[in-house]
Amino acid sequence: MSELSELYQEVILDHNKNPRNFREIENADRHADGNNPLCGDQIRVFVDLEGDLVKDVSFVGSGCAISKASASMMTQALKGKSKAEAEILFDEFHKMVTGQLDPEAGEHHLGKLRIFAGVLEFPARVKCASLSWHTVNAALHGEDEVSTE
Ligand code: ZN
Repeated sequence: MSELSELYQEVILDHNKNPRNFREIENADRHADGNNPLCGDQIRVFVDLEGDLVKDVSFVGSGCAISKASASMMTQALKGKSKAEAEILFDEFHKMVTGQLDPEAGEHHLGKLRIFAGVLEFPARVKCASLSWHTVNAALHGEDEVSTE
């Protein structure tokens, strides 16, 4: 097993067992529901904005380990970012899990999120990993529902 896939396993297990920002935000500025019927992942994302900044972001829901870990790490990555920065991250993440961006080459802002490049080996898992990102993107654009179908 490569170093990256070992790290992938470890991080997924950790975030699945102990998801960060796993809570509702009362009176959140934005929220959206995401649904991945292929796997049964369901998530609700909450976003609190301060001007252009993501002041707080959280999620609740149920799903597989990958969807939960991805949502957990997404909230960590987005807190304190501007909406424009969040959009860049969403774009880079999406490109990475669909094989259009090689996290080992070129410049990007993915940081720890690069471990999700591992889902490329499991095409059915790509939607699990990207569900939370599509959902937060919808929330930031004022839409309240997203489905990966
Ligand atoms: Zn899933």
